[in-house]
Amino acid sequence: MKDPFSVEGKVTIVTGGGTGIGESIAREFAARGAPVLIASRKVENLERVRDEIRKAGGQCEMAQCDVRDAEQCDQMVASAVKHFGRLDTLINNHGASITTPTLQLSANGWRAVVGINLDGVFFCSKSAARQFIEQKSPGAIINISSTAGVHGSATMLPYGASKAGVINLTVSHASEWGSKGIRVNCIAPGPIDTEGAAPRVWPNPKVKEMVAKSRALGRFGTVEEIAYPCIFLASDASSFITGALLIVDGGQSPATAE
Ligand code: NAP
Repeated sequence: MKDPFSVEGKVTIVTGGGTGIGESIAREFAARGAPVLIASRKVENLERVRDEIRKAGGQCEMAQCDVRDAEQCDQMVASAVKHFGRLDTLINNHGASITTPTLQLSANGWRAVVGINLDGVFFCSKSAARQFIEQKSPGAIINISSTAGVHGSATMLPYGASKAGVINLTVSHASEWGSKGIRVNCIAPGPIDTEGAAPRVWPNPKVKEMVAKSRALGRFGTVEEIAYPCIFLASDASSFITGALLIVDGGQSPATAE
């Protein structure tokens, strides 16, 4: 009997797959037999992860891609199809932020963050959906938003706003593409201790402790704790789930839950 939770053979693109959460998603999918293509701007990170996944026996290719450029997103999908013959899952994990108060935030700063977080998800999703429809076999899209997209962020305004846009885009795309069998879901992580997030969001031990205490579970999440729900949402076990938002944040502590 086929395991409904399996992602074996499911061709998967992971944007931002050279670091942090994306790296873990790529490793966990490849370890379960999914051919994986990782994509981002920095080739050195992609090469390291690709080589390590291959060494561990997984299938991995890479594509240099700036998700702000629609053509590069098309090429990223084409590259996955060239290497593996098809596409089954797109994981829009890429993301960026700056911590600047609104009155000091330039138009360029705003546009840079929204361009990566929101335009990037739109371009990659469009390229993937076109491929799903052409190959006449539905696929799954998983968008990585943030709890800042649910609650807002006073210190990272364009980040919160663009991540809220990702949640909205998820519901709209799920609705638009449901008749084609394409499922689109969203995960909103809470604090996950990665090298990318740490210097911006918990720059010193005192803030780090406060963030941990703000969670009902009293700790940060691990990168695997985001990768595992991605496996569920890519697998047939979630075949009737689309347009959903899964908040993975360790819960709110009693002090912050009011
Ligand atoms: P990270 O290591 O900084 O990951 C961000 C990734 O996005 C990098 O691999 C980066 O690769 C890629 N990226 C940035 N701009 C890009 C662009 N223009 N084109 C293509 N790729 C681009 O941080 P992380 O913590 O693992 O975050 C992963 C995702 O989780 C992000 O969407 C983030 O918003 C979300 N998230 C994280 C947390 C947390 O606490 N860590 C909480 C909520 C949500 P390159 O620099 O090579 O392009």
